[in-house]
Amino acid sequence: MNGTVVGRLAPSPTGAQHLGNARTFLIAWLAARSLHGKLILRIEDIDSPRIKPWAVSQAIEDLHWLGLDWDEGPNSDDVQAPGPHAPYVQTLRLERYREGLKLLAAANQIYPCTCSRGDIEQAASAPQSMGQGEGLEGPVYPGTCATRNASDVEQLNAENYAWRFRCYRGERHWRDHFCGPQTLDVAKQLGDFVVGKKDGWPAYQLAVVMDDHDMGVTMVVRGDDLIPSTYRQQMLYEFFGWRPPQFWHVPLVVGSDGKRLAKRHGDTRLSTYRERGVSPQDIIGWLALSCGWIEKFRPCSPQELL
Ligand code: GLU
Repeated sequence: MNGTVVGRLAPSPTGAQHLGNARTFLIAWLAARSLHGKLILRIEDIDSPRIKPWAVSQAIEDLHWLGLDWDEGPNSDDVQAPGPHAPYVQTLRLERYREGLKLLAAANQIYPCTCSRGDIEQAASAPQSMGQGEGLEGPVYPGTCATRNASDVEQLNAENYAWRFRCYRGERHWRDHFCGPQTLDVAKQLGDFVVGKKDGWPAYQLAVVMDDHDMGVTMVVRGDDLIPSTYRQQMLYEFFGWRPPQFWHVPLVVGSDGKRLAKRHGDTRLSTYRERGVSPQDIIGWLALSCGWIEKFRPCSPQELL
């Protein structure tokens, strides 16, 4: 790749960061730093009402505690941190996402959708479903509102709606730098997806694309549960005419039952380990062992793993 690699750490303060988040952060940090790249810390706090105000400063404290650093973004709970791509907190970037929605609406690439979750489930499970029924991530949007134009919002003033992106048709192909070649018919397997709300509040798909582009991110390292989202995000890159970053999707940490780490596996919050006197080197050592980078457990630091 030409130019400086720019990676990012993008915690969502919907709760405490746990061991699984730590491994993805560590890999993202190592990937960028091993290529002498830069790192940006961005706080992804648009997922209201799940956001917990205390979780922003705790996530920052967790990252510092683990020994990970970054070149741009808040270093404490100073969400107004200055920098060439400030602000680094999504709820302070809402105006920018509204611009994106405006462009999408002007091109009629999005339409206002008044369907509730229940409507979608019902339509998708109907025997003569207009849509494709069950897809990769639950019911595929059956297209009920797709005949609307973006300009039809004017007739919907009293109704609540979400903006849905009209998927491009046909199979899409791309290469994940960790998982290899990817192929999917997005319209059939995922369906038209939400990019924003009536009031202009963005959905994750739109916010993350606009931020990664605006912040000059060239390398996205994140959990492989987001591969379906990457297909959606690539359509947004294509719409805006922006070059997508390299994607590296890495496996999530799983419990002994092989399932994604969750509360039922015990308390794996980083803050709990910290309070109990576990050292960050122990955590990093365990994560390194789980990735096969060391053969036997030993405490280590991110710097050492570089
Ligand atoms: N904020 C998301 C998370 O904490 C990551 C999204 C992304 O990396 O695109 O899981």
